Amino acid sequence: MRPHGRDALASLYFEYPIFDAPQHLPATQHAPVVIIGAGPIGMISALTLAKYGVHSILLDNKATFNDGSRAICISRSSYQILDALGVVSDFCDHALPWDTGYSYYRGKKILEFQMPDSANEKFRPMYNLQQQYIEQFLYQCVEKNLFIEMRWRSELMQINKDTDTVHLDIKDPLRSYTIACDWVVAADGARSTTRRLCGHRLNGENYEGRYVIADVQMDHDFPTIRRALFDPKSRLGGTVLIHKQPHNIWRIDYQLGPEENAQDAIAETSVRQSVAAVFADIGYAGTWDLEWWSIYSANTLLLDDYRDGRIFFAGDSAHIVPIFGVRGLNNGIADGFNIGWKLAYFLTGKADKDILDSYTPERRGATLDVFANATKSTRFMTPPTQGWQVMRDAALSLALTDTRFGKLANPRQMTPYTYAQSPLTHKDDATFTAGPKSGAVFLDAPYADGYLCDALSGSYSLIYFGQTPPDDQDWCNVLKADPHSTLGDLYDAQNGTAYLIRPDLHIAGRWKHFDKTSFDASLAKAALR
Ligand SMILES: Cc1cc2nc3c(=O)[nH]c(=O)nc-3n(C[C@H](O)[C@H](O)[C@H](O)COP(=O)(O)OP(=O)(O)OC[C@H]3O[C@@H](n4cnc5c(N)ncnc54)[C@H](O)[C@@H]3O)c2cc1C
Repeated sequence: MRPHGRDALASLYFEYPIFDAPQHLPATQHAPVVIIGAGPIGMISALTLAKYGVHSILLDNKATFNDGSRAICISRSSYQILDALGVVSDFCDHALPWDTGYSYYRGKKILEFQMPDSANEKFRPMYNLQQQYIEQFLYQCVEKNLFIEMRWRSELMQINKDTDTVHLDIKDPLRSYTIACDWVVAADGARSTTRRLCGHRLNGENYEGRYVIADVQMDHDFPTIRRALFDPKSRLGGTVLIHKQPHNIWRIDYQLGPEENAQDAIAETSVRQSVAAVFADIGYAGTWDLEWWSIYSANTLLLDDYRDGRIFFAGDSAHIVPIFGVRGLNNGIADGFNIGWKLAYFLTGKADKDILDSYTPERRGATLDVFANATKSTRFMTPPTQGWQVMRDAALSLALTDTRFGKLANPRQMTPYTYAQSPLTHKDDATFTAGPKSGAVFLDAPYADGYLCDALSGSYSLIYFGQTPPDDQDWCNVLKADPHSTLGDLYDAQNGTAYLIRPDLHIAGRWKHFDKTSFDASLAKAALR
């Protein structure tokens, strides 16, 4: 919602472009892949396919980017994906990096936490950037990519499936037509039309706690540090989260009490009063302007299967996760990258169809892991019962005098999921005592004149520590590394150690002493040709 007198797209700082539907379309339409929804996840899927030379048609029923205040935190692992897709530079230029969070209880600081970071890494643990910019920067790359055909104002109306083809009925302001395609990525968001037309439902839980999120513009002189206020004067018994975003925009999330009526709480006067009370808490007395606000409650909902034949669900169409811990967008970005490279490997003849079977176990597994972590955060942020409330308040009171309890007051951040059980992952070599495990996301480190992530090419990469690596193979890029280097230390390497890294930067397998037979078995597992 926007303040009285400002229309839906009248932002204080972002100019929404308005896109037209396509003027001309071919009479017969067939595409290898159609992506429904040009939100962040649809665009990531399209850019990933394009990286491997696979054409897609990208449809969105809107005429512009998502409006209002949505995802604002992008994790390091998402930056690594953006970098691998060659689209990260605008993000680096505009976003605010951060690694620190403060938690307060009744006005007293009880926790100062730092996310792990080091100069070995190309990217910082977290960046704040409004979702409009995330979509704009992705779209600037989509728009000029010859492998992607973007169609705005184009709405999916109906789906007909046969064994080899999916037929999509599309409506735009000028016409209705059908596209036949081999594969579909459904990235059409939380209210997914594709999901409904296929007769699937999200299953899981809804949480009681309700939050108002309000974006305000103000010249507040405080660094990019995430603040969590427990039981502050402005929200007795409740929680407030404060994040800085570019353009002096601040996101204030405040919890509603059980007695508060949602309709009253989102009236403009009430939002202004609540925000002003938070500012009194943090000692800000300057001017400010209200940009946008909304209300939400936490959900942990997901599909039983992220695949229905030739249709793959990615992002919010497949799962809704609580926003504490910045997982909605980041989890979805990993979905889009995951299905993108696997479909591309299959469609370009680099892998058998079996590779597609790994999508659901890997990405659904990641969502369940997010749920496990987010549920802990959500219970702490918005205790679901009186019992949880009493326990939470007891922990916070103890934190005033004992820092060990303060650690509980940290809304956990996103960490990438380890595909340990994936059909594509080689069993971990138990002789390692450190380093990224089989299935984990790679660890960045200085390599050659830059970082390891710069040398990973988008195909499988074998990092061999030692002087005599196996010969280059056409499916795999072989990198030689020094076991006595920072990279060698981080990867617990000795002479002859090898790590196989997948195109999506997860470790496919690792060998303390490289073994060709076991290595070949790992490739067969990955269904590679
Ligand atoms: C208020 C709010 C706050 C949030 N805060 C955070 C946060 O702090 N951190 C975080 O990580 N995440 C947050 N999220 C979640 C994050 O915004 C989503 O996870 C993210 O947008 C998911 O991207 P997506 O591409 O899957 O879906 P969407 O961004 O919803 O995109 C789906 C697209 O599909 C299009 N579409 C829908 N139906 C059709 C159709 N029939 N035909 C054609 N196109 C269609 C829509 O127009 C839309 O553009 C927040 C979400 C909300 C609503």
